[in-house]
Amino acid sequence: MNNCAARLRLEKGDITFEKTDAVVNAANCRLAGGGGVDGAIHRAAGPALAAECAAIIKRIGRLETGKAVITAAGGMKSRFVIHTPGPVWKGGGAGEETLLRSCYRESLALALSSGLKTLAFPSISTGVYGYPTELAAPAALDEVLRFLNKNAGIELVRFVLYDEDTFMTYEKALKANVNTIA
Ligand code: ADP
Repeated sequence: MNNCAARLRLEKGDITFEKTDAVVNAANCRLAGGGGVDGAIHRAAGPALAAECAAIIKRIGRLETGKAVITAAGGMKSRFVIHTPGPVWKGGGAGEETLLRSCYRESLALALSSGLKTLAFPSISTGVYGYPTELAAPAALDEVLRFLNKNAGIELVRFVLYDEDTFMTYEKALKANVNTIA
């Protein structure tokens, strides 16, 4: 038994109000902003975020699903935003879980290599992208716990979940996962 579960917390709330080293954005491959949490982060950060995203896209063309890039956080209280495009749900047979796990792992690895210690995640892909929350939550939590188990450099990961149903689904999945570890 290690202390990785103690470094993961679930909260209900709006991720744009978080004060953490980096907020993770459920982005799209063009880093273009949009609806849901992506739109909320862009509004809260201000136009400097869109400009930095546009400069990245000019350099790399597009950000593939499951990959991650980092920008400053503009007017938000957090220092950085890590952008990762989640998979669109296509029924489960199109590698969605592998891609979703990659989003969490790549975001954590980028935070670690950038010297960051605290992160806040939304529930990637479970809004407009249609990934069922009861399937996304166990995969997301398992991937984060595995990473924390191997990497002491990340001190705290918080999932900031916007609505009651999502929060309760993550809570149930976390209890099941911790029971497995114990
Ligand atoms: P995706 O396109 O990856 O599905 P969405 O933004 O549509 O992303 O939804 C992902 C999750 O983010 C959903 O659970 C949605 O309710 C939630 N969400 C929306 N706005 C916020 C916010 N301000 N803070 C945290 N979570 C949010």
